Amino acid sequence: MSIQTEASPKPKIERLPPLPPQETVYRPIRKRFHLAFFLAFVAAPFTNLMRFDIPRQRFYFAGQELWISEFAIIFFAMMLLMFVIAASAIIHGRIYCSYACPQMIFSEWSQSVERWAGRLAQKLKSASPKARKLAARGLFYAVLLVASVFLAFVFTSYFVEPRDLLGRLLHFDLVTVGGITGAVTTLITFLDFTLVRQKFCTTVCPYGYIQGMLQDKHTLLVSYQDGTGEAKDCIECKKCVRVCEMGIDIRESPYQIECVHCGDCIDACEDVLRKLGKPGLIHYAWGETPKAVAAQEPWYRRWGFRDAKRVVILLIMIFYLVGLAMALSLRRPVLVEINPDRSTLFKVLEDGRIANLIRLKLANRTGKATQVRLWVEGLAGAELALPANPVTLQPGETFERTVELRAPFIQDGQDVHHIRILAQADAARKADIEEMTFITPLKRK
Ligand code: SF4
Ligand code: SF4
Repeated sequence: MSIQTEASPKPKIERLPPLPPQETVYRPIRKRFHLAFFLAFVAAPFTNLMRFDIPRQRFYFAGQELWISEFAIIFFAMMLLMFVIAASAIIHGRIYCSYACPQMIFSEWSQSVERWAGRLAQKLKSASPKARKLAARGLFYAVLLVASVFLAFVFTSYFVEPRDLLGRLLHFDLVTVGGITGAVTTLITFLDFTLVRQKFCTTVCPYGYIQGMLQDKHTLLVSYQDGTGEAKDCIECKKCVRVCEMGIDIRESPYQIECVHCGDCIDACEDVLRKLGKPGLIHYAWGETPKAVAAQEPWYRRWGFRDAKRVVILLIMIFYLVGLAMALSLRRPVLVEINPDRSTLFKVLEDGRIANLIRLKLANRTGKATQVRLWVEGLAGAELALPANPVTLQPGETFERTVELRAPFIQDGQDVHHIRILAQADAARKADIEEMTFITPLKRK
């Protein structure tokens, strides 16, 4: 909510020897973050950094292929992401919006393309102003259309296997769910970055409103700090207002919901006032801590650890990270499930051997083919009636069937024999061990 101020009288401009340029200029830093996050956004689905393959019901995280049956790890990973975003809102306000959010990155990029197309069209000296305007619009829409197809492709790749999606794109598939999703996403992306842009942040995006609720008195803000009356340094040049893409005047309040904490107004004010020999009046600040006070504070307060809440947030984050790393390192890339099938206790085979039924499930949850070797301990001459041992599993393949565990008759007066079935997917890995019983008749028939 903006707070209206009364029109102030024209200030007297006092000129001093110019100051050197500001040490930290935020816009180029932000653009470097944009490039890094754009590359991460594009690379994530292709490198399986993070991707949800809906048709195959697989979740890819940090290069690991998680099956839907491993929901606990998927849930943990999603919770970690949500916690990081919430913690960032509490500590750093809307820094995520202006430095990392794809909507902001592509909105600013589409504005740059629009300006570039306008400048290029101005070079058509012989064309009429109307023709130049048309050429600029045409070029802008053409670039945005190509970019929208690319962005929609990347976005849809988060949910559909990228090679499969590329095949659908090259065949102009508008029939299957994946093809239709890609086409609709392209249209939405095009309309978003030609018409909506940053309006999305203040109207549709729920994250901005949630951030408002999460902030407290220590959250990072962009704060205008000036004296009053005669001690006021603001020269009312309004450059801070003109550069603001969100269309606000930061001098009215640091708590305006439209402010995404981009820092463009900080750069603008520093640029103007330093030429007049004074430092800028707009700064990043923890809450409304004056800049001079913040400079005297110990390092941990300057790094944002300003109360116990922030320390707890850090500890919870470490707990989540350690928990997730452990869950990922302990997960078995090849799932082995061995259970007895007691629909019949035992069978006497024609050759006199005894057979028990075993339910076997082997699933290769890795991206490469593997072999699983199975053997029995504690029962002389026992063997599993498998078509081949080791069992070869292609990436993502599941082998599931009921097989006979066969062994010669044992003349020891016992009908229950304790055995172990072992399955080893990789010679370097520990074998999975399943302890169970083998049931035989007491006497040979
Ligand atoms: S007020 Fe300043 S920090 Fe906030 S959005 Fe506008 S330019 Fe960015
Ligand atoms: S840029 Fe600085 S000096 Fe100019 S109006 Fe904004 S706050 Fe005042």
